Amino acid sequence: MNAAAGQLTDVSGWVVRARASRALALRELVHVGEERLIGEVIALDHDTATVQVYEETEGLAPGDPLYSTGEPLTIELGPGLLGTIYDGVQRPLAALARDGGDFIGRGAHAFALDRERTWSFEPKAREGEEVLGGITFGFVQETPALRHPILVPPDVRGIVTFIAPAGPLRVDDPVATIERDGMVKTITMVQRWRARVPRPIRARLPIAQPLVTGQRVLDTFFPLLRGAAACMPGGFGTGKTVTQQQLCRWADADVIVFVGCGERGNEMTQLVRELPELIDPRTQRLLAERTVLIANTSNMPVSAREASIFTGVTIGEYYRDLGFHVLLLADSISRWAEALREISGRLEEMPAEEGYPPYLSSALAAFYERAGSVTTLGETPGSLTLISAISPPAGDLTEPVTRHAQRFVRTFWTLDRQLAQARVFPAVSMSASYSELPSANAARDEALAFVEEAGRIEETARLVGVESLPDRERFLLRLSEVFREGFLQQSAYDEVDAFCAPERQAALLALFLHVRRRGLELIEQQKPLAKILALPLMTNLQRAKSARALPTIASLEEELASC
Ligand code: ADP
Repeated sequence: MNAAAGQLTDVSGWVVRARASRALALRELVHVGEERLIGEVIALDHDTATVQVYEETEGLAPGDPLYSTGEPLTIELGPGLLGTIYDGVQRPLAALARDGGDFIGRGAHAFALDRERTWSFEPKAREGEEVLGGITFGFVQETPALRHPILVPPDVRGIVTFIAPAGPLRVDDPVATIERDGMVKTITMVQRWRARVPRPIRARLPIAQPLVTGQRVLDTFFPLLRGAAACMPGGFGTGKTVTQQQLCRWADADVIVFVGCGERGNEMTQLVRELPELIDPRTQRLLAERTVLIANTSNMPVSAREASIFTGVTIGEYYRDLGFHVLLLADSISRWAEALREISGRLEEMPAEEGYPPYLSSALAAFYERAGSVTTLGETPGSLTLISAISPPAGDLTEPVTRHAQRFVRTFWTLDRQLAQARVFPAVSMSASYSELPSANAARDEALAFVEEAGRIEETARLVGVESLPDRERFLLRLSEVFREGFLQQSAYDEVDAFCAPERQAALLALFLHVRRRGLELIEQQKPLAKILALPLMTNLQRAKSARALPTIASLEEELASC
């Protein structure tokens, strides 16, 4: 092991200060104390380094050594990420638990990618071929769900002078050598990348394609776009966990990265425990086979939460670079911002709004701006879509984290406490949500106008009573109730309805819009309201979503004609 690069002068919780005897760099990863706890240099002032330690610091004392690693927080990328649960600085929890007993010992180190495991390598490039960074030169079947291209690292190019034959290889075995200007570089299946630096791409593509989630209220009214960022503010009990699970299962993405930067202890462990056990509707196998989980463990301080977001994004970008569509969920960005606030407080920085540091906005930008739809260095399309849950205190959407996040996202799903209390799920507010729409859609506009008008009627009804409303308004009010239950509500636990394909969403919407138009016509023709409201279709439309086959417009017409 290398000699100490400094000595601790001050220990205050997970923030320690050291006098450096050798040059350290800002953001350098260091090892602290004889136990070599993991830390990161977060401030440098002459020869004094301030370090945030990612583990409990009990027992550390002034005079203890500080070791330099010479590099910043760096993520290992390669086959074996899928199905693994990591902590915020990419230590594999299972491997650490195996080595250290039930809980992770302090200063525990393990490779992020298992060095013992072998992968069956299939070469693609040939000796003598010229390759550039980002080119696929072979494959391994990472899980049954994903064939993992092995890429030339971004900064390498040259002539292939050796490529491993088909057969079993470990991640750090040589798979190729690449020569350029007389220099030979040996390539393995492991790439290392700095967590806080975006990975290079060939070009950004326009963001225009919807990312289907199978959730009607989202896809129809507030669609997510591939390669964009979205956020989902919602208080406790509004359905953030269930909605994120639904997105993980059903969203049209190849790889899911879930970053749980929750409270210590329980808040996020539910999702982290349950996610790998969900069945993947694409493969009927475990969802874990295309999921990477990042979870802060209960014995890690909040500083690790701050790092976990960048660990997650870097892994997401890596799968994007392999040519996949990746969805990253961060739960929640509020807890991450609280970590920033606490770190800033320890540094005695001047706070801005509500104690958050003045750079809250740029810190959020550094996360959200890593979303994108791209052409990779290997000339394939790939995308990284980011969704962050937000837990605004007291549901206040004007608080700093929500407000700043709003500047960087195209889709904003507000989960409404009142809807959740009324057990209307997903509890997505129709008035406080929005999305930058990829294309014009007449049916959606008509439905939105209907929902808005019904909302106004509802308010009037509250003042004057339903009985005193004109027939037209009473009809719309009743139909909007049917619409809420039969279209907007969608149970995650309904076998048929948990996922609704876009064509089915459109067909169901068309039924409602047809009944709205025809009902209004009948009322203009002075047909009795009671008769219209008593039509079986008014209750059938409420339940149609759970039936395998939807009613047809013709069958609705038959009923309407009887009025
Ligand atoms: P949060 O994570 O915001 O505290 P949860 O996701 O745990 O809230 O949701 C609370 C409860 O609401 C769930 O236990 C479930 O009963 C109900 N719920 C939320 N979303 C749905 C949904 N899409 N379908 C059915 N029930 C839901």
